[in-house]
Amino acid sequence: MPTKKNLLEDIQKERIARLEAEECFKESKIHDHAELSRNIARFSNLISNMQEGILVEDENRLIVLTNERFCAMFGIPVDPAMLIGADCSGSAEQSKHFFTDPEGFVAKIDNLLNQKQKVIGEVLYLKDGRTYLRDYVPIIIEGSYRGHYWKYADITNQKRFEDALKRSEEKYRLLIENMNLGLLEVDLAGKIIYANQSFCNLSGFGRDEIYGKIGENIFTNAENRKLVRKKTASRHEGILDAYELEITTKQGLKKWWMISGAPLFDQEGIQIGSIGIHLDITEQKQLEFTLREAKQMAEETAKAKEIFLANMSHEIRTPMNAIFGLSNQMLKSHLDSKQRSFLESIFGAAENLLVVINDILDFSKIESGNLDIEAINFSLPKLLKQISGILTNKIEEKGLQLILQIDDSIAPVLVGDPFRLNQILLNLISNSIKFTDHGSISLICNVEESDDKQQSIKLMVTDTGIGIDKSFVEKIFHKFSQESADVARKYGGTGLGMAITKQLVDLMDGQISIESEKNKGTQTTLSFTLPIGKQAESPEHSKPVFNQAKLVNKKILLVEDNKVNRLIANTILSQYGIEVTEAINGELAVEILRKSSFDIVLMDIQMPVMDGITATIMIRKEINTTLPIIALTAHALQSEQQRCREAGMNDFLSKPFNEVKLLETILKHLD
Ligand code: ADP
Repeated sequence: MPTKKNLLEDIQKERIARLEAEECFKESKIHDHAELSRNIARFSNLISNMQEGILVEDENRLIVLTNERFCAMFGIPVDPAMLIGADCSGSAEQSKHFFTDPEGFVAKIDNLLNQKQKVIGEVLYLKDGRTYLRDYVPIIIEGSYRGHYWKYADITNQKRFEDALKRSEEKYRLLIENMNLGLLEVDLAGKIIYANQSFCNLSGFGRDEIYGKIGENIFTNAENRKLVRKKTASRHEGILDAYELEITTKQGLKKWWMISGAPLFDQEGIQIGSIGIHLDITEQKQLEFTLREAKQMAEETAKAKEIFLANMSHEIRTPMNAIFGLSNQMLKSHLDSKQRSFLESIFGAAENLLVVINDILDFSKIESGNLDIEAINFSLPKLLKQISGILTNKIEEKGLQLILQIDDSIAPVLVGDPFRLNQILLNLISNSIKFTDHGSISLICNVEESDDKQQSIKLMVTDTGIGIDKSFVEKIFHKFSQESADVARKYGGTGLGMAITKQLVDLMDGQISIESEKNKGTQTTLSFTLPIGKQAESPEHSKPVFNQAKLVNKKILLVEDNKVNRLIANTILSQYGIEVTEAINGELAVEILRKSSFDIVLMDIQMPVMDGITATIMIRKEINTTLPIIALTAHALQSEQQRCREAGMNDFLSKPFNEVKLLETILKHLD
């Protein structure tokens, strides 16, 4: 049995325990409350500092929480703390004037509040141009609706940026779609992954017809496919370049594209295929083909003209050789004065005719680019003296005076083309003689500049003749130009000489200018810069000494189909004690050479049965490799000389040849 004392003690203990428990509960409650307050303060602080406008309402639309940003976004000029407990039921109406669609704004809010469904990322447009993004989130606690939360973000800048980006993308998309260039993207396997509208227009195919297909299989033939494959492979090595390609459109039309290709990369920089820009160059290509054909035709025509002129020259030179050769031989015979005068006239006329033929041939050679300029050692003073020597007679015959002035400082050996320089000066001085009836003709040569390597030379041909009108001076270098019909009638000529002179001067990198006044005379100035040559190399030193005695009893085989030419050559050679054997074609010449030996062969080129080139090749191959063979040809083309040398001939004599030249050449090879 518990005692009264024990009972009292127990009650006392229980009371103390209860009081302690109560005290403990009270303390824990106080602690929880403080923690909650701290949490609320944390969230409020967080929300106050958020960049978005926040509004939390309770189920009765009384404000629980908002922040400064929200107030700023809706133009509410109060501290957000003051708004706590305020009624929001009329707020949509109050702020609707901010939006481009005020009624829509109110209706949408009503709808959200009715539906109580979360809606994120709604875009709202403000009248002042800003854009807001709104989230609506209902607050559901233990299954019951306890209010809602609005979040407004000002995305004006982001929206503007996105719009600008979109506009720019659209601009470039439109540009790519509609540019005149076809754009094609293919993957690594060559399959088409994108084509712009222009590409479809160019190819005639719709996008759906080509997407996923291998481009080269659609547009190209087997031959071109190889090229495209090679180009695609080079893209895999990072190579970009442009090439032309012939393709066939869907309609079967042949077109030419210029394709500029490059590797195609993804955003990570990994190659995913290649990209090509296509330009239709069909018209340009056609033009190119036409031009090429025209050029080829022009070249063929020029070639035909050259061959024609070469043939003409051959046909004219052969009889010219006869006229020259025979009149020359006749002049050596006994003639009365009348006969001699007639013969000299024939000789003079033949010389004039030869000048015309040479002019025409030279001109055609220059035009077809076949005239070569030599660079050999020569003595300019000697050349000038020779020229004046040749022309002295003619000048004196006309009662004119010749003045020759040669600068002492001219280098003894210069490098250039003495034959063409001779031709230029002869032409200029011949014109001066032709167009001057009184007074003088002077040839003056000065050194303008000089160093140890080269000299700049100035040559002046001056006359006191009829002069040239200023207006004609400008045209004087045009081919076939003569000052007037009167001049042409009175003085003759072809109007080619000055054109040839100008072209020769150009080919020699020189300059020519003319100063003239009617009835006062004409001065032509030539300037050339020529390298200084070494005396030892001068070919003039190797010139054969004309030693007639060496010719006696020499055996020459003359191979020539033309009877008159044989007669002339035979007559000349026999006079010097040479034994001449004649053959009328190459085949007979080869037969004779198999049986007998000779010192020299003079070989015509064009002959029936066997020509001179074939005969020479046979002689070189089967009979004799060292026997001197000299070509006699009426062809004056450089290519003809080349052919002769290639066949194994040692030298070349152009018809009509003169006696001295023939003998000099023979002597050169007898040595
Ligand atoms: P060609 O003398 O054969 O007619 P050129 O081409 O040498 O041809 O000369 C063309 C023309 O230039 C001559 O017909 C003449 O009218 C004029 N001409 C050339 N040189 C002289 C000159 N020294 N004096 C006057 N006229 C000249």
